[in-house]
Amino acid sequence: GERVPANLNALAEEYLQLAYQSARAKNKAFTATLITQFDVGLGLIELVPQEVGRVLLNLFTNAFYAVQQRQLAEPNLGYEPQVAVCTMVEGTWAVLKVRDNGTGIPAGIEQKIFQPFFTTKPAGEGTGLGLSLSYDIITKGHRGLLAINTQEAGYTEFILRLPR
Ligand code: ADP
Ligand code: MG
Repeated sequence: GERVPANLNALAEEYLQLAYQSARAKNKAFTATLITQFDVGLGLIELVPQEVGRVLLNLFTNAFYAVQQRQLAEPNLGYEPQVAVCTMVEGTWAVLKVRDNGTGIPAGIEQKIFQPFFTTKPAGEGTGLGLSLSYDIITKGHRGLLAINTQEAGYTEFILRLPR
């Protein structure tokens, strides 16, 4: 693919809706609160839309999966699934954060999630390739960074950085 100046906020909004609709198509009872806070100061970012779109779709799909798993584990306890996406400018970086209040990632496997074929999902539900592919697209293909933020208890947050 070829890099073009793109609106990362619009791309994120589009793929967030796509991931949400797809989750709801598979699980009719599922609803989640979507929270977005897009920084219009991001401007246009040089990126390959299909590739970054694939990364976003994977991050959002993982988030919706995690909140559904938590909901299954805690039915009727007042749990409200939530997926939040925000963007911001940090110096030369355009930053996008995806945060969910799902199952979380045990400390013991945090180091493994970016490895190819690592998955905790049953066969047929995950290939374990999403994050490793995403990592390569962002770091090798776009000179960006993709990391997990383990700071905030109760939340799983992925942070994507692309050069402005
Ligand atoms: P897959 O989704 O096919 O399992 P990924 O590479 O996308 O593969 O993710 C690897 C693993 O990382 C998942 O199986 C899961 O254990 C963990 N993971 C990724 N995102 C999240 C999340 N938002 N919440 C909890 N666990 C996650
Ligand atoms: Mg995945």
